[in-house]
Amino acid sequence: MNNAAPFAGAIDCDVHPAVPDIQSLVPYLDAYWQEMVDVRGIEGFESRNYPPLSPLSARPDWRGANGRAGESVEPFRQQLFAEWGERHAILNCLYGVQIIHDEAMAAAFTKALNEWIAKAWLDTEPRLRASIVLPMQSPELAVEEIERRSADRRFVQGLVLVMGDMPLGKRHYWPIYRALERHGLPLAVHTGSAYRRAVTAVGWPSTYVEDYVDQTQAFQAQLGSLISHGVFQECPGLKVVLSESGVTWLPAFLWRFSKNWRGLRMEIPWVDRPPEEIVRDHVRLTLQPLDAPEDPRTVDRILDHLGSDELLLFSTDYPHWQFDGDGALPDSLSAGLKRKLMVDNPLATYPRLGDRA
Ligand code: ZN
Repeated sequence: MNNAAPFAGAIDCDVHPAVPDIQSLVPYLDAYWQEMVDVRGIEGFESRNYPPLSPLSARPDWRGANGRAGESVEPFRQQLFAEWGERHAILNCLYGVQIIHDEAMAAAFTKALNEWIAKAWLDTEPRLRASIVLPMQSPELAVEEIERRSADRRFVQGLVLVMGDMPLGKRHYWPIYRALERHGLPLAVHTGSAYRRAVTAVGWPSTYVEDYVDQTQAFQAQLGSLISHGVFQECPGLKVVLSESGVTWLPAFLWRFSKNWRGLRMEIPWVDRPPEEIVRDHVRLTLQPLDAPEDPRTVDRILDHLGSDELLLFSTDYPHWQFDGDGALPDSLSAGLKRKLMVDNPLATYPRLGDRA
């Protein structure tokens, strides 16, 4: 590895294309919804609290002429593939279609969004892969979207936000998990909210920094829900990828969860082994942001506490700027561990990435 290509051959499991405006999606809507964009004055669904011009949102040299980042393929091609030497990058498009309340409308715009990803991105750059954005407002329509996209093997997983309508473990959502499992697609749970309720358990925060940092609470709640309801007993082939969740909270959470499971397991007899074991078999986390100090010894101890070197997946979160310079991987990692994070673990998590290997 050298400075010119710090992640040569890597599979980047979380990068973010941005929809420039609602007109980009209009060609992929049916005639009724095309008309509704005009008649209803639909301007788009991007979260209004997200600050696109803040330093966290993109490094200055990754921005386009309009100050925004991630709106076209070329910068991805240049940064991820030419400069960093990545092999694949997985597009997780966060466009706020999750905030729509009308189930039919949510499904229509999500279908258009996935079609736009296929045509404007995947057809343009063969090294890109993508997540199927799922209209979780209706499990029935989410399964339809999975069935529609699954033949296109450039789509490698389903994508939901960590905060939606209700806890993800509920049986309401199980048809979605069965469909994902059937097609060899992991479920990616990414930072973000449909804003159905406050993003913290104690009420609404006042600032974006609180909103962003507090997302970890939701990841803990969703992991507890998925495990307690028995999703992984129902779908033994399902993998869940926690994206942009941070990492360091997990060991302490699992210790507490597994300890209390031993005392309360009579409530959930279908959970037949400690949560920490279930996580090791079914759950993966993307690397950025790595919420740890730079001290290599601390990073090593955290990886040690995770109890496995198979849990983490390399990601840059490009064009969001979660790390210094090009340092998306901690320096202290051994060459063997870097290879696991960048290549082996993603290939083991996403069966479809092996198609053309
Ligand atoms: Zn992300």
